[in-house]
Amino acid sequence: MEKTLERPLPRGDAAATKAEYESGKPPIHCSGWTTVRPHQRYGALQQDIHADVAVIGAGLAGSSVALHLAQLGASVALIEARQPGDGASGRNAGHVQPFLDHLEYLKDWPNAGQDFIQMFIEQRNIVFDLCEKYRIDADALKSGMVEAALKPQKSLAAKARHWRSMGYAVEELDATGMRKILGTGAYQYGLHWSEGGRVNPYLLTNGMVAAAAGLGAKVFGDSPVLQCHRDGALWRVATAQGSVRAGKVIICTSGHDGNGFFPGLAATSYPLVACAVATRPVPKEVLDSINPTRAAVTQFPTGLYPIVMDGSNRMISATIPHPGRASEGAVYFNYFLNYLHKTFPQTRDVDIQMESYWTGVTASSSHVYHADYPNIFQLDDGVMALSNLGTWGNIMGPLLGRHLAQVVYADRPQDLLLPWLTPQSRTVRHPDWFSFKVRRFMLPAARLVDKLGLA
Ligand SMILES: Cc1cc2nc3c(=O)[nH]c(=O)nc-3n(C[C@H](O)[C@H](O)[C@H](O)COP(=O)(O)OP(=O)(O)OC[C@H]3O[C@@H](n4cnc5c(N)ncnc54)[C@H](O)[C@@H]3O)c2cc1C
Repeated sequence: MEKTLERPLPRGDAAATKAEYESGKPPIHCSGWTTVRPHQRYGALQQDIHADVAVIGAGLAGSSVALHLAQLGASVALIEARQPGDGASGRNAGHVQPFLDHLEYLKDWPNAGQDFIQMFIEQRNIVFDLCEKYRIDADALKSGMVEAALKPQKSLAAKARHWRSMGYAVEELDATGMRKILGTGAYQYGLHWSEGGRVNPYLLTNGMVAAAAGLGAKVFGDSPVLQCHRDGALWRVATAQGSVRAGKVIICTSGHDGNGFFPGLAATSYPLVACAVATRPVPKEVLDSINPTRAAVTQFPTGLYPIVMDGSNRMISATIPHPGRASEGAVYFNYFLNYLHKTFPQTRDVDIQMESYWTGVTASSSHVYHADYPNIFQLDDGVMALSNLGTWGNIMGPLLGRHLAQVVYADRPQDLLLPWLTPQSRTVRHPDWFSFKVRRFMLPAARLVDKLGLA
């Protein structure tokens, strides 16, 4: 661990190039999550060292793997190309979703996915539990989650019944109930989950890394891994200036990103550039009138304007940018503002301004939006990957990172509750197809449906 940085200043659109926004990689300072607090910088790997396990990539996935391996007693080296949280994990929308969708896609998993579902149910509060256990100050709040709909929805009612039968506190709300929870008459129906909520994902990622380091993990930043090859009975993970010799390697580089050392892995996901916006702090009484419990909000079925309200009284939202227009933050901020004004008339006279705008890249396992479950790959003897966390990395990263760490530490691959995959079985033929479909057709259609009030 090196020095502590000064509080980074928020940087506007001018600070990053159009190409950086389009690729989902404007400097991490653009992310609204990094403006809150100073963070640690980790120095580069400059020696040849040994560890039981080398973990590559310090996003939500790699940080959790490293933390839980270290907690179990393994010696761990966590190697990050830039700094922890610099990928999607420092750039997301902050929702912590406490439930799973489309369970039918788990039917080919071990025990038809039932054991995985059970683990999810038991550990659905993992984000909040980890923050408490390791004293991670990530502005995490179990404030619940609301799925808001313009009219009653049979599929939501069925979902509520299903999860209630598994012990969840989820309420179906009519127009009166919705008005109480969201302070608008716009929604006639919705689900209110009392668990889930919000987190600053950048601070959560960095908090897990700091906790791992506190437990003895060696953490290296500014160290892109260039090669991973056999070295006798071990693997040698090499960067420009150093290497780690390890019995096991776990790759958490988010599938598509920078893992040319296992090209098969890079071909297993559908990358999609998403964008997010944070407002400047809004008067507390205004937020109280919109969302007194500060539940994370999403709109069913379009999800066009997710809302998280953070501990600094800011609102954070996310969407998918128009093709070729990912750098135009004001466009997406204005979409969000129009939604607020239309849905919550009490905001019309409030001066709500944009504080930050940024983009990031999600890695999905399927071109079907809702079939997007994470993947765990066996790449070679002792080399694994956890990737494709899709749009629910805030919970899947910590959860599956812990699960994989337990399986690897115990050396019991048979205990994995997900299928062990090979990249060959998941090779994506046209990786850009998903992005094309979503940005050209699905989002414009969703915006039209929303505009016409059809959903
Ligand atoms: C705009 C947006 C909104 C989102 N909203 C939500 C949300 O509200 N809730 C939610 O749960 N999820 C959300 N997501 C998804 C979530 O952010 C991701 O699923 C999650 O962050 C993925 O974590 P990861 O660790 O797999 O990948 P990443 O966070 O991308 O981490 C991968 C890391 O690997 C490093 N790396 C890459 N190559 C190398 C190399 N060669 N050597 C060393 N290191 C390397 C990268 O620098 C990076 O730090 C959103 C994503 C975006 C972009």
